[in-house]
Amino acid sequence: MAQNGALLLGCIADDFTGATDLANTLVRNGMRTIQIIGMPDGLDVPADAEAIVAALKSRTAPVAEAVEQSVASCRWLRQAGARQIYFKYCSTFDSTDEGNIGPVTDALRAELKTDFATVCPAFPETGRTIYLGHLFVGEVLLSDSPMRNHPLTPMTDANLVRVLGRQTRASVGLVPVGTVRRGPAAIRNAFETLRRNDVAYAVVDAIEDGDLRRLGAACADLTLVTGGSGAAMELPENFRRAGLLARRAGEEELPPVGGKAAVLSGSCSPATLAQVERMRARHPALKLDPLDLAERGNAVVAEALAWATAELETSPVLVYASAPPEAVKTIQAKLGRERAGSLVEHALATLADGLVKAGVRRLVVAGGESSGAVVQAVGIRALQIGPQIDPGIPATLSLGEPKLALALKSGNFGAEDFFLKAIDRLR
Ligand code: ADP
Repeated sequence: MAQNGALLLGCIADDFTGATDLANTLVRNGMRTIQIIGMPDGLDVPADAEAIVAALKSRTAPVAEAVEQSVASCRWLRQAGARQIYFKYCSTFDSTDEGNIGPVTDALRAELKTDFATVCPAFPETGRTIYLGHLFVGEVLLSDSPMRNHPLTPMTDANLVRVLGRQTRASVGLVPVGTVRRGPAAIRNAFETLRRNDVAYAVVDAIEDGDLRRLGAACADLTLVTGGSGAAMELPENFRRAGLLARRAGEEELPPVGGKAAVLSGSCSPATLAQVERMRARHPALKLDPLDLAERGNAVVAEALAWATAELETSPVLVYASAPPEAVKTIQAKLGRERAGSLVEHALATLADGLVKAGVRRLVVAGGESSGAVVQAVGIRALQIGPQIDPGIPATLSLGEPKLALALKSGNFGAEDFFLKAIDRLR
């Protein structure tokens, strides 16, 4: 891709909803942001994009794959003109002793020929804080939180200096909160001292957003910055201070697409279940039964599509597989967890494709995996990120044809009236 005149910040996120969260943060802080789904190669993005977030699925991929995809994305972003690279991972630092945060950051440092990067997954708004290098989730250490039992990335050590130290040969240091509170100049001095001592990574304490702002300001001249979405919140202001980014009054609205609206829900989280009830009370809704899907397959999807197409003439519709925990357990006991999941994901993906062909242009999807399946089925490779609908969930617009207005929400996000609000906000 040719140099993109406006591009300032290139981001690599290790999962899809994390990428959206970061893009949302950048938009709220005044950057025009595009989220790319998967690897950016071969893609043309609008020339006025100031930040690009490549959403990889590298969090739990084999190390070599995660490294390769991250480095290739980094190279593409640099060629597109990015002046700074941000590597985004989870605010609970989801990883194992094998990686992938350490190996990916090592590889990005090599690619960018830089000896240093910051490490700060803190997200105080959601209770993730770092004190003396220890990550807390709410009131407990990461290692005492439910993350200790995560099926793929169990986090049994809260000391990030140690955790990262096991994932890299480079040395890892700490910038404690006392230094952070003395402001950006003190933080920069601490970076210099660490660098002189051959320390490649600075884990930086952050307990409140002010700490993240101070850290962000200290990162203006770094080529590589890493963290959760919070540590990126001040980066747009750095570009404004440098005269590279325009100051805007607020988040920019997306151009309207018009067309019919539908909600597809494959998330079974408590928040989603409440959202389904709210929507059902106001609009036509159809429940998909995984057991029926297992028995009759595509016929079920075809019936759902016929039903939705008819209802769409007069109203937005909801199609959902979302079910409370007991029902999900029963279904999983009969079908197996994976089969139940993939039956539902496949059904929602096929439905989304059919609905778009039937004229739906405004689409709300609940569920991280469900969103991934839908976006792939309708062939979306990149999204322009618009104003926030609810915390962490922006309105988005697909690039390419046909233009779709989308709200993609992961499990527990969104208020009870989220579906109704999202339909209203997607124009
Ligand atoms: P979340 O963001 O809430 O985790 P996801 O879409 O990522 O939502 O994951 C939910 C998973 O549960 C998906 O794989 C989906 O297909 C599956 N699923 C949805 N409804 C049911 C159900 N009724 N029974 C079993 N599995 C289901």
